[in-house]
Amino acid sequence: MLTVFDPWNNPLCTCPFKYSLHPYTGCSHQCLYCYATSYIKVRKSIPKKNFIQRLLRDLERADPRIPISMSNSSDPYPPEEKEYMLTRKTLEILLPRGFRVLIVTKGSLVSRDKDLLSKGNAAVTMTITTLDESLAKKLEPNAPSPHDRIRALRELVEYGVPVGVRVDPIIPYVNDDEEMIRELVETLASIGVGFIVTSTYKARPDNLKRMKEAFPEIAAKLDKLYRVEGTWIRGYWYLPLELRKKLLKPVIEAARRHKLEYATCREGLTSKEWFNARSCDGTHLIPLRIIPKKKTLLDL
Ligand code: SF4
Repeated sequence: MLTVFDPWNNPLCTCPFKYSLHPYTGCSHQCLYCYATSYIKVRKSIPKKNFIQRLLRDLERADPRIPISMSNSSDPYPPEEKEYMLTRKTLEILLPRGFRVLIVTKGSLVSRDKDLLSKGNAAVTMTITTLDESLAKKLEPNAPSPHDRIRALRELVEYGVPVGVRVDPIIPYVNDDEEMIRELVETLASIGVGFIVTSTYKARPDNLKRMKEAFPEIAAKLDKLYRVEGTWIRGYWYLPLELRKKLLKPVIEAARRHKLEYATCREGLTSKEWFNARSCDGTHLIPLRIIPKKKTLLDL
């Protein structure tokens, strides 16, 4: 259950060493641009079999100093979590033991668990790609609306849970309107978000196909930018570097204007101009509220 985070051999990944933990397999949010679907397929979230028993077994050997990221390729707060409460049960196990947890989600349901998150070594990063409700519905059909995600973030901040936002991915011709990006970052700053990480859309054959079907009017442009002018890096088509910088600049500039920490993800842009935070993924936001009782692996 608990595995070492694997950035799929991407040399541009700047993530710190961490564990990955997914209570569900598949993902009901079904974002068009999802990078994980070539592994998890496009299917609804299903609770993993005997998840809690297997997790308890894995924790016996786990090092509590290493952050646990939930989750990188299957949202921990899909609609199914309301019924199964598997993520909540996981937090009830991890947090009192002093494990360090980073929640990565689009699920506004995360604010339900503010009681647990605010007492443990936990931080939340929420993905918001746009404030445009109809565009979000098209891009992330089954995920909560941006409005709901902002409401959830506000609640978490009020409870003292550290939060960051992934403005990710920025997709050319889709959510790259500079004015909208400025408005998004301004909204996030106004509710107490202190950290933003951003990146451009990296195309894979399956997600590019979904994007072109959903946005036929820009299909040819996306093909040209990615498949003709772009570069294939370890399983992804990257946009040309100058275009990536152009797309990311409004996010970074807005973050700087509002005195937020900022980072880029898998862009190879690590100078201060593009990266001014202690981690790219938000693990640095995790507070130390509970000292783990368990000996660390290195002490054994
Ligand atoms: S929430 Fe994440 S894992 Fe789920 S479909 Fe969207 S991008 Fe994929």
